Amino acid sequence: MGQLSLVVDPNALHQDTLQTLVDTFNSLPRAMKFLNMQGSPLSGAITITDNLARPAVSDGNRKAFASGGYRAFDQKKGGMAIVFNSNPPDNKPLLNTLIHEIGHIKWPGLGNDSEKHDPLFYALLNNALQKLGVSVDPQQDLQGQSIENVKIPQKAIDDPLSYIINNNRSELVPGIDSAQAAGDRWGGKCIIRWLHNDRDSIR
Ligand SMILES: [Zn+2]
Repeated sequence: MGQLSLVVDPNALHQDTLQTLVDTFNSLPRAMKFLNMQGSPLSGAITITDNLARPAVSDGNRKAFASGGYRAFDQKKGGMAIVFNSNPPDNKPLLNTLIHEIGHIKWPGLGNDSEKHDPLFYALLNNALQKLGVSVDPQQDLQGQSIENVKIPQKAIDDPLSYIINNNRSELVPGIDSAQAAGDRWGGKCIIRWLHNDRDSIR
C-alpha cells in the first residue's frame, strides 16, 4: 500500500508534452520516494491530463478551469488525477506545477484557497523541491510567501519527501468509482474515490 504512480491520459490533448513531464519527474533520483504514501490509504495511479472533456475530470475542476488563470488542479473527488491547463497563464515549469499538485495529495488541508495556501504548504513544498533537485522560484513556487519562520514538523525536517499528512484523510475510504471505471478506463489502474471533500485545490 501507499505507492502512487503517474499515468498520462491516452486522450490528453498534449500527450507528448505530458509524457515528457512524467518521464522527467520519474527520472528525478528521489521521485519514487516522493510518490510513496506509506501510512496513507492512498495508492495507485494518478491520471495526468489536460483534456477537460474526459469523464474522469471532476465537475469541480471543469468549472474551475472555465474561470481561467489556473495552471493545474489536483482532484479531491472522483478518480485521482492532476488536470493541467493546456494554456497555462505563465511560464512556470510544468515539473514544478506537477510537484506542487502532488504536494496537495501528500499534505491535504493546506491549500484550498485559490489565492494562496497555508505557509506550511510552501515550506514543505520548498524543502521537497530542493530534495528532488528542482530549483525553487520564490514567486512562482512560493507565491512570494516568507517561509523562514514557518514551524515545520520535525518529521518533515528529517525527511521532507516522505512526510505526509493524514489528518484530513481519516474519513477517506479508497474504493472503485464504478461509474468512471465502467465508462472510462483512463489508462489508470486504480481509481480512488475521495468521499468527503468536493473541493479542488488550485495551482
Ligand atoms: Zn496549490
